[in-house]
Amino acid sequence: MEYAGAIIDLDGTVYRGGDLVPGATAGIDRLRAAGIELLFLSNNPTRTGAAYAETLGDLGIDVAADRVLSAGTVTTDFLRDEHPEDPVLLIGDPGLREQLAAADQPLTDDPEEADVVLASWTMDFDYDDMRTALEAVDDETTFLGTDPDRTWPAGDGEHIPGSGAVIRAVAGVVDREPEAVLGKPSPQALGAAQERLAAPPGDCLIVGDRLDTDLAMGQRAGMTTVLVLSGSTDRADLADSPVEPDNVIADLGEIGTVIDRD
Ligand SMILES: [Mg+2]
Repeated sequence: MEYAGAIIDLDGTVYRGGDLVPGATAGIDRLRAAGIELLFLSNNPTRTGAAYAETLGDLGIDVAADRVLSAGTVTTDFLRDEHPEDPVLLIGDPGLREQLAAADQPLTDDPEEADVVLASWTMDFDYDDMRTALEAVDDETTFLGTDPDRTWPAGDGEHIPGSGAVIRAVAGVVDREPEAVLGKPSPQALGAAQERLAAPPGDCLIVGDRLDTDLAMGQRAGMTTVLVLSGSTDRADLADSPVEPDNVIADLGEIGTVIDRD
């Protein structure tokens, strides 16, 4: 079948730690040679899409700044649209704080003043953060998370706790689920991707290493899903997954087998 667009995950799909996944460059070249419009979408909230475009450039993959979206960008845009005047109390990384500040989002460290509590990945997450969240979240407060990734691949097969772990800890202490978790597979992340990708979902591929985020979003949108086994998921995980990939390949280097199929 002919594909017009592809959404491609970054961590575990294009790179792992600071290194390219073997075959990543060849796979991206192959997609481009087939005339497929590419959009990169990362659930990492700590930097803007434009910053990830630079990282890709450093790794030898030339991508325009507006062709990369991060959970940071999706979150910042969502707050701008839905909560432009609301002070946000962030439990998250300084990199996300910078993005919010750059977007002129009001920020506060005072739990009394917070209208939004935003939980996200931070290596400094501790007991005090749970106390702050408990104080800040009442019936009037909006509770949001940046992305549901429970773990991230840190390279060498190691996984570290991600935003999902922090969001669930905060949800546990405030005894409430977040109103929205903005990265993949959320409708907000899908909408942000579709705004930038001209192709209709039925003509798009989604390529990623996670069943519960990348592939779940693509499946719901009616895209052709491609699981790469170069990141968080191995064949054993497939057995008990409610999400069934249309295609499973070792890494992005094998994408030709998907686009050449009838
Ligand atoms: Mg990934």
